[in-house]
Amino acid sequence: MANKSSLGEVLKTNDLFAKKGLGQHFLLDLNLTSKIAKLGAISENDVVFEIGPGPGGLTRALLDGPAHKIIVIEKDPRFARHLRDYFADDMGRLIIIEGDALKISLSEILAEHGLTNYHGKIISNLPYNVGTALLVNWLHGIEAAWPMILMFQSEVATRICANVGQSAYGRLAILVAAKCDAHIALHVPRLAFTPPPKVESAVVVLSEKQVQFDDIAALGKVTAAAFGQRRKMLRSSLGQIGNALALCTAADIDPTKRAETLTPEQFFALANAYKATS
Ligand code: SAM
Repeated sequence: MANKSSLGEVLKTNDLFAKKGLGQHFLLDLNLTSKIAKLGAISENDVVFEIGPGPGGLTRALLDGPAHKIIVIEKDPRFARHLRDYFADDMGRLIIIEGDALKISLSEILAEHGLTNYHGKIISNLPYNVGTALLVNWLHGIEAAWPMILMFQSEVATRICANVGQSAYGRLAILVAAKCDAHIALHVPRLAFTPPPKVESAVVVLSEKQVQFDDIAALGKVTAAAFGQRRKMLRSSLGQIGNALALCTAADIDPTKRAETLTPEQFFALANAYKATS
């Protein structure tokens, strides 16, 4: 497209209305999207993944940076079409994939495009309805690209970054703590989006931990049992997945404690004990 109209105009002209079912709340303010992009400290050695580019406000900011390639994955064919048109001049650096990010392996995409020598990063304003599922998928292993700069609803962002002793502390914070150091870098008000969602949002920066706990599957089992019955003592709640007392003894944890009082490291020890016995 030779003459670039503003994204808001393009949405109106092409009747690109937001679909609730796809979590579509758009960022059309390029000052804000460039602020988010800058959190990724992008260099020429980076390949940046953006999940759910929608109209392309964040994509524009990523293209303005030095990344070697920007790979976007969009489920809505209307927006995939719009992006191919709107960014026709940028196709040398932009790869547009139409599909469901929940079913797509980022490492396979890097391999398919001969980009495995580059450093992967993920920078996205995630669709709210699948944001947590995408993050948990990426934590499971080879999918992870670092850092991840991700926008969530504020409540989810708080749960991701919570520490033991805080009311938002739970399974998500522990799974995240296995792999990442996480902090909220930016609070984004509802009215920054078109259309505005019901709640505030926040951008979380998830960077790679030096020492990681890798068995997310075992950690998932142990935390599901412990937090599934969070008011019960571990000697009772862990009974669902094995001999609760033996697990606590092996992990050197008092079985009369409750899930929310255990540090992530204590959960890693429980996950190791569970793995050794199952
Ligand atoms: N990044 C754009 C922005 O900031 O303006 C749009 C963000 S909007 C919150 C989420 C986007 O994710 C929408 O474009 C939606 O169509 C897309 N989406 C929803 N579910 C998806 C999925 N499973 N895989 C890929 N894209 C998805």
